[in-house]
Amino acid sequence: MSKLRQKNNPKLNSSPTFFALPGPESFTAIIVAGGTGTRMATEMPKQFIDLGGKPVVRHCLETFSRLDICESIVLVLPGDRIEQGRDLLADFAPGKPFTIVSGGARRQDSVEAALSAISLPDAWVAVHDAARPLIPAAVIENAFLMARRLGNAVVAMPVVDTLVIADKTGRVTDNLDRTHIRSIQTPQIFPLSILRRAIENARAENVFGTDDAGLVRQLGITIHLTPGSMRNIKLTTADDLRILMSMIS
Ligand code: C5P
Repeated sequence: MSKLRQKNNPKLNSSPTFFALPGPESFTAIIVAGGTGTRMATEMPKQFIDLGGKPVVRHCLETFSRLDICESIVLVLPGDRIEQGRDLLADFAPGKPFTIVSGGARRQDSVEAALSAISLPDAWVAVHDAARPLIPAAVIENAFLMARRLGNAVVAMPVVDTLVIADKTGRVTDNLDRTHIRSIQTPQIFPLSILRRAIENARAENVFGTDDAGLVRQLGITIHLTPGSMRNIKLTTADDLRILMSMIS
């Protein structure tokens, strides 16, 4: 059977056969840690809080640095925390190009700052929230395979809870069918040129997005989801910190 016929057969598509799109075989990781983490209500921004003996941000930096498919890392920190970040990461030696840039007011401004630090003509970029410290390496590897196969890949999880709509008083007004609902995580992997266009378009059209895939979708591009992990939770509240602590101990 020709490769093309195999590719068009949906049954065979569910097998692990891998059809890579042409292009680089590695990616640049953009680790966004430019937020202020106000929901944690801690003096230290959440990306610098100690988690098992190292700052939160260092966990995913180490995971990405160990992956051969990750060729370089751009870390985005809040503009007024660059020196603090450099101090905290003074002994972090990823063994690959590592740049720290100053973030912006919104997450997408921080991604834009990272993109302007990448001078490659053609590249894959994987944007990851530093606030998701325990991203398993296998999830990243699988997402990159999927991105190369389908053009992009966004890590997501099915929703297990019952979903309802409630009014301000807590009165349930409707139930939602969760069958097609997914909870979006990171990394989100795109060709550099597409992510650049998405961010430029968002700026021109005054669009705000809580993730990159939402902005890429505005270009009319189909987004492909790939399995995430329960370990890949986002540190948002003090409870999340306790859960993350229990996961590493
Ligand atoms: O605020 P939220 O938890 O959605 O942020 C997700 C990630 O985006 C965090 O790692 C945060 O540090 C980062 N971020 C950023 N620049 C901003 C806001 C958030 O890099 N201005």
